[in-house]
Amino acid sequence: IDWFFDELDRKIDLVIDQLLARYKVQAAKTVKNYPFLMGQGIWLDSEKLGPNDTVGEVLKHGTLTAGFIGLAECLKALTGKHHGESQRSQNLGLEIVGHMRKRMDEATEKYGMNFSLIATPAEGLSGRFVNIDREKFGVIEGVTDREYYTNSFHIPVYYPISAYEKIRLEAPYHPLTNGGHISYIELDGDPTTNVEAFENVIRFMKECGIGYGSINHPVDRDPVCGYTGIINDECPKCGRSALDTDENGEVIGIERIRRVTGYLAGTLDRFNDAKKAEVRDRVKHMSINDPDAPMEQL
Ligand SMILES: [Zn+2]
Repeated sequence: IDWFFDELDRKIDLVIDQLLARYKVQAAKTVKNYPFLMGQGIWLDSEKLGPNDTVGEVLKHGTLTAGFIGLAECLKALTGKHHGESQRSQNLGLEIVGHMRKRMDEATEKYGMNFSLIATPAEGLSGRFVNIDREKFGVIEGVTDREYYTNSFHIPVYYPISAYEKIRLEAPYHPLTNGGHISYIELDGDPTTNVEAFENVIRFMKECGIGYGSINHPVDRDPVCGYTGIINDECPKCGRSALDTDENGEVIGIERIRRVTGYLAGTLDRFNDAKKAEVRDRVKHMSINDPDAPMEQL
């Protein structure tokens, strides 16, 4: 673990250098290179610049952000258990992410720039990195044996855990990731049938310090009548069967909306294999008809 933190510091040094190098390249450009962003005063202070001025003084108001994925796989590799499985791993996870944040804060002081730490889903990298690592280190259980690395500090999507426990474990990472973060709860059933249970989850998120929380629940839409809600075999509004066919004999399907890394998608066709696999592996954290032990946990 000592070696891990040394190696983490070397990687963070590299990221800070890279962010500063990119900033230097961008800062050397002039206002006329960004006719909309700078010429139209979109960026703070850009109205004070002429067309031939360089934009460094304006771009410094932006952020230089380091992101991470796969805390769960990292903890598995270091201790044999991820943070959903062991409190010791959770403590180490907080130490790792807290260290990364501290390094970003130090860089902010040192360079007078807005360095921040982001909890990223890394849509493309989540599959690419695990492929690279599997080639290098082989198949390691809980680390490289899936098609994707787990989103940021999340408890793995395939790990069965209650909504409340997931919120409680992920919440402390939110204030550490000042560049952005989100926690998801996968809910089974139609939230409009038990608004109180739905509200309890939101309140619990707030009490735990979740900065940005999301509840994913199934949403179906009948393209024929426009009804939106849960549709099983029959549309509750127009009464048609989900297997009805059009004049060509094609089934007029029900659109089933799912959420993938923040995108609401009717179909998974356009997502890469890693994200498709992640959606396939997801377990539900609570059922709207059977919310386990809600508010007494507060
Ligand atoms: Zn209908």
